[in-house]
Amino acid sequence: MKLISIVVPCFNEEEVFAETYRRLTETMSHIDKTKYDYELIFVNDGSKDKTLEMIREKTISDPRVKGINFARNFGHQIAITAGLDNCKGDAAVVIDADLQDPPSVILDMIAKWEEGYDVIFGKRRDRAGESAFKLLTAKYFYRFINRLSDVDIPLDTGDFRLMDRAALDQFLSMRETYRFVRGMVAWIGFKQTFVEYDRESRFAGSTKYPLKKMLRLASDAILSFSNTPLKIATFVGFITSCIAFVGILYALYMRLFTNNFVEGWTLLMISVLLIGGIILLVLGIIGEYVGRIYGEIKRRPLYIIKDKIGF
Ligand code: UDP
Ligand code: MG
Repeated sequence: MKLISIVVPCFNEEEVFAETYRRLTETMSHIDKTKYDYELIFVNDGSKDKTLEMIREKTISDPRVKGINFARNFGHQIAITAGLDNCKGDAAVVIDADLQDPPSVILDMIAKWEEGYDVIFGKRRDRAGESAFKLLTAKYFYRFINRLSDVDIPLDTGDFRLMDRAALDQFLSMRETYRFVRGMVAWIGFKQTFVEYDRESRFAGSTKYPLKKMLRLASDAILSFSNTPLKIATFVGFITSCIAFVGILYALYMRLFTNNFVEGWTLLMISVLLIGGIILLVLGIIGEYVGRIYGEIKRRPLYIIKDKIGF
């Protein structure tokens, strides 16, 4: 008997929870019951609505349901990690609570798993009901990060995926604080493949990823998987030094060999401002990395669980 764990991060998802539970159990009723069993792990990421009570009710009525209740909101990537940390499955599936990733795709993933693949991610063929802004930024962001970093994150994929226990244990051994799960899974290797699906629009409620959280995820992705920004900093510093050197030669020439050396105030102001700006920019980039070093070195636990329900 193989156990399949399904991990669902939930943040203020009271509007979709009942339907998500219904669709997931409906899908899992189609699996071969002589070969597989499953568990549903809902991670309540500090919701302020009724999500927690709804999870609690389900753990009572359905022994396959388990709940992890965070002490506060730790974010999507950490919620996924906590669910995976606490699952027992021979394979684990991560799926969003909002039904944008259709649960039925899990059956295709299990089929691929049986073919011997270790990581099967969902690849979006079409994304309904997402803003043009999100589509555009997502499209270019993944191409950008792949150019910048040394891992190849599969294009048009999210966190909807199935992982075999062997790959999962490797992933879980990576305890970094700033987590970009997609990149980390790509980094571990193993035999990876994808199943294509059409991404639906959110069943109900609104996105739990406002621009601020999107930007944080993007910066975690770039800074955890690439040193290119530091190299850019060095490069920009080098170029401005060259320009400054030419400027110095010019200033000296004007002072020594001509009479109009009082002029050039404009040039002086421009170069002071320009170089000041560049220094701040470069310091900012370095600061981002130093901040992350500080964050990692504190070695805090990734999340605090207030209570576990139904385990
Ligand atoms: N989520 C979470 N913690 C957060 C934000 C989101 O656990 O701080 C969950 C959310 O409940 C959902 C998933 O992460 O299951 C993806 O969020 P959402 O669908 O709102 O993001 P979008 O699809 O709009 O990018
Ligand atoms: Mg969504």
